[in-house]
Amino acid sequence: MQSTNDIRQSFLDYFAAADHAVRPSSPLVPHNDPTLMFVNAGMVPFKNVFTGLETPPAPRATSAQKCVRAGGKHNDLDNVGYTARHHTFFEMLGNFSFGDYFKEQAIEHAWTLLTSEWGLAKDRLTVTVYHTDDEARALWKKIAGLPDERIIDIATKDNFWAMGDDGPCGPCSEIFWDHGDHIAGGPPGSPEEDGDRFVEIWNLVFMQFVQSGGEIDGALPSPSIDTGMGIERIAAVMQGVHDNYDTDTFKALIGASESLTGVAAERERQASHRVIADHLRSTSFLIADGVLPSNEGRGYVLRRIMRRAMRHAHLLGANEPLMHRLLPALVTEMGQAYPELTRAQALIAETLEREETQFRRTLDKGLKLLDEATGDLGEGDELPGETAFKLYDTYGFPYDLTEDALRSRDIGVDRAGFDAAMAQQKEAARAAWKGSGQAADSEVWFDIAEREGGTEFTGYNATVGEGQV
Ligand code: ATP
Ligand code: MG
Ligand code: MG
Ligand code: MG
Repeated sequence: MQSTNDIRQSFLDYFAAADHAVRPSSPLVPHNDPTLMFVNAGMVPFKNVFTGLETPPAPRATSAQKCVRAGGKHNDLDNVGYTARHHTFFEMLGNFSFGDYFKEQAIEHAWTLLTSEWGLAKDRLTVTVYHTDDEARALWKKIAGLPDERIIDIATKDNFWAMGDDGPCGPCSEIFWDHGDHIAGGPPGSPEEDGDRFVEIWNLVFMQFVQSGGEIDGALPSPSIDTGMGIERIAAVMQGVHDNYDTDTFKALIGASESLTGVAAERERQASHRVIADHLRSTSFLIADGVLPSNEGRGYVLRRIMRRAMRHAHLLGANEPLMHRLLPALVTEMGQAYPELTRAQALIAETLEREETQFRRTLDKGLKLLDEATGDLGEGDELPGETAFKLYDTYGFPYDLTEDALRSRDIGVDRAGFDAAMAQQKEAARAAWKGSGQAADSEVWFDIAEREGGTEFTGYNATVGEGQV
């Protein structure tokens, strides 16, 4: 069996042999894009190269890039633990051409690596193309010999990539693995596609046009290639399992979580172990890259992820902080590929333990309040927004944690009511601040907070409750 670490190396070796410069992963906090919370794709560190602002490091490059998708445009937080294929933290394997090779070689490389180098069964691969991209369709036919019905036209934005309203853009082609008819789901584009039978493993982006104001405005002078393959998904395929959470890395983390809690990852407990394993990775890597838990911006996203995992640890009956005790298992699995993890191990452990100790002080009380407030509620009902706000404000429950806690009972949360309560508190804080005679600064402060996203702002310190830190 190829380990995840072997697969990463094998991918980079393959592209290095095809003249790609091997680039290390960039940190999760983007250095070149203030609008982006975390690096969420392998191409992010190369954005300025694709737009022509920076000269390419080489005509071709390859990398295994750390990614976090837990907020903003790509938010997979709610999927974690409930789909076979989503994580908040994952690694994206990529090959890039900066005006060098284009569509034909990109497809050829992908097909050769998957089917010759790695020996995957050709009849279990299906691809999509953008509906107007006849060139890609013809190339898949020529290179891979795929029959027409396994080259599926997609007309939605899923198969058309753009950097923003202005800049490079172009059609994509996604490669799917059929995990077999014992799993519910249909091919991409079919009404049953939401199942997990056909899993997207690799996305090839053909940067071909330039957009301005959201409209295509001509051809890109030097067409480029950006591809991304989730290592956890390809590891599942190559290790013969359906679920990312059954691959070597996750088995080790979930095993550690099972032995420390004494609870097997079965039935209704499975999702908790998965959430813990996933969130351990995202929180540890974020801390290693310099993010610390706080009440705003990136630090609050980190805190949300941490606390969510900590509620699941509590659910498994952990009587004392758990997360930091799982860290050695993560360092064993990933410390060699990512030395920053090993270097920051003490800081990560300390941060996790401190946060969990702090949060546990109010967690019990908060959960009790939640139980009382939902005692009369049933499937399809909603928790009043004001209660969710109280949980947030007094007990330090991030909004999504409350949502997650009620998910198994099919109870929703009144988001509008929560937002209204938040806005009211902000208004009160703003008034109090203005009264302090420092109005000019406060405008700037509140504007920043608002840009970071309304619910991530937790109010002025004077109104911070017991649960906040
Ligand atoms: P999906 O449709 O399954 O959500 P996506 O189209 O959003 O995936 P891309 O943005 O194309 O994903 O990212 C490139 C690759 O990265 C995907 O083909 C997949 O292998 C992997 N990937 C994307 N999101 C995740 C995630 N949350 N967890 C693990 N792997 C992911
Ligand atoms: Mg997605
Ligand atoms: Mg997709
Ligand atoms: Mg995709």
